[in-house]
Formats: sequence, structure tokens, C-alpha cells
Amino acid sequence: MAKCAEVKIAVFGRAGVGKSALVVRFLTKRFIWEYDPTLESTYRHQANIDDDVVTMEILDTAGPEDLLQREGHMRWGEGFVIVYDITDRGSFDEVMPLKNFLDEIKKPKNVTLILVGNKADLEHARQVSTEEGEKLATELACAFYECSACTGEGSIHEAFHELCREVRRR
Ligand code: GDP
Ligand code: MG
Repeated sequence: MAKCAEVKIAVFGRAGVGKSALVVRFLTKRFIWEYDPTLESTYRHQANIDDDVVTMEILDTAGPEDLLQREGHMRWGEGFVIVYDITDRGSFDEVMPLKNFLDEIKKPKNVTLILVGNKADLEHARQVSTEEGEKLATELACAFYECSACTGEGSIHEAFHELCREVRRR
């Protein structure tokens, strides 16, 4: 018989990297060009993962987020998606500090996360190579996905499902 489970997922990353677009793409298979950047939303989504019914609660964080709020979100989450924009080097540089902050909040537990490089459709404006993304993911000991919320390329679906699997393995 299928087991029921709930997995709390929080999505982090610099403003403008496409967190909301990614979450909406995952949930609706559509792309929404403009999404209020100040809007923080939580979505509930049911999926069948390896014969289990899993309810994901997905928190799409939004700036401006103060430290206390961020800490609350990090405590709440069980699995994390850290997103950067392949056309924005600064957003890539913010990944490691975010991970360190997560480690601090979750210690002594290991943080369960995936790294996502978004906007892969904007190849002409790329500032962060795929190899750099892979290397960082190795350092963070996590899975890495390059994708585009805009075109749907890359494995957005697989990324969220894999994160759920990992949370449930722990
Ligand atoms: P958030 O602040 O991280 O939630 O970012 P948003 O989801 O609001 O997206 C910020 C901007 O980037 C919007 O103008 C989106 O249309 C755009 N955007 C998001 N994802 C992609 C993508 O994969 N490709 C392209 N070309 N633009 C994107
Ligand atoms: Mg947003």
C-alpha cells in the first residue's frame, strides 16, 4: 500500500533568478513572465513518487527578507532548492553563503539540497559555465540541474522529485 508523506521544500536564491517562475513551471508547466517579486507564496502539490503519494509544501521565498524571517524559513524547510541565474555571476556567488547559513541553522544535521542554474535559454548572456555549476555542486555534495523556467528545458520536474526522494531517505 502506498505510504503518505509530506515534504517541506523551501526555494532560495537572489531576487530575480527565477524562483517563482521555476516553481510555477513545475506546478503548472507554464511560464509566467512577470511575477510579483515581493510575493512570498506557499503551494501544496501532490505527486506520485516511486509508488508513494507525496504532498509537497513548496515555499517560494521573496525579498526583502530579513535575517529573522530567513532563519524561520530555513528552520521550516526539510529540503532546499538553491537557485542562481546563469547570466548573473553575483547570484552564483551568493550560493555558498546561503549554504553556510543553512548549515548553521540546521546543525548538527546535514542539509538536504539541490542546486539549480536557471535561465539556460539565455546562452548568449551566460556568465557562469556548466562546469562551474557542477564543481560547486560537488563542493556542496548535492545534485545539480541546469534548466530554464522559460522554455521548460532541463529537468525541473526531476529536480523537485529527486529532492523529495532525498528528504525521505533521511
Ligand atoms: P524571483 O525573484 O527569483 O522569484 O524571480 P522571478 O521568477 O520573478 O523571475 C525574475 C525575472 O526573470 C522575470 O522577468 C522572469 O520573466 C525572468 N525569468 C525567470 N526564469 C527565466 C528563465 O528561465 N529564462 C528567462 N529568459 N527569463 C526568466
Ligand atoms: Mg519571486
